[in-house]
Amino acid sequence: CGIVGYVGDKQAEAVVIEGLRRLEYRGYDSAGIALVDGGTVATEKRAGKLANLEKAIADRPLPSSTIGIGHTRWATHGAPNDVNAHPHTGGQGRVALVHNGIIENFAELRTELQAAGATMQSETDTEIAAQLLEIDVLAGHDLTDAMLRLVARLEGAFTLVAVDADDPDRVVAARRNSPLVVGIGEGENFLGSDVAAFIEHTREAMELGQDQVVTITRAGVSVVDFDGTPVDCRRYHVDWDLSA
Ligand code: GLU
Repeated sequence: CGIVGYVGDKQAEAVVIEGLRRLEYRGYDSAGIALVDGGTVATEKRAGKLANLEKAIADRPLPSSTIGIGHTRWATHGAPNDVNAHPHTGGQGRVALVHNGIIENFAELRTELQAAGATMQSETDTEIAAQLLEIDVLAGHDLTDAMLRLVARLEGAFTLVAVDADDPDRVVAARRNSPLVVGIGEGENFLGSDVAAFIEHTREAMELGQDQVVTITRAGVSVVDFDGTPVDCRRYHVDWDLSA
């Protein structure tokens, strides 16, 4: 239901958890986070309130990292429990992915993955996206390319945000029939399901259009449509009064 992505020079755990807190008003049943740390992706996720996730992290601290993603879930496929909470990872744990929305054709994609030997950990529609994405990343596609290959196979409504353990300077997201906003900073960039996710860090925003994929790094933001053609997105200034 709520999504946050971050790459920059701050501690990603704090930025992501704070972003999720600011998205709590949207309602959710579980929460989770993934951080990239020296060739691995560390994840923690819990059913229930954000406080449950924070308690789990306090008990088993996550590595220091300046790139990460987070999610608050409103379950559509699979009960609201720890396993079904996002992020989901591929079979090798190389990529982690969060998702808002519904992947309509997940059952046939799951059958295809299982026929190829994949084992599913969860009951979600989301996990098939994580597994498909990881297969292409392991085959040598960069995360942006792999995301483009993934969305070509998906039907339904989705905002997807992913990180790759071996790419500590890139968060990639895609959107179709589900919102996604980019926050533009200095040496840092943000993703959110709405601007509340990053409003305390930057007020420079960019709204993704329908069927677009965005790549954020510390140095910049680039947007392409689902065919891979570069797109110019409109930037705007968010002038909310936070004290109100
Ligand atoms: N369909 C996904 C699930 O049930 C995502 C739900 C959401 O938008 O939070 O896990």
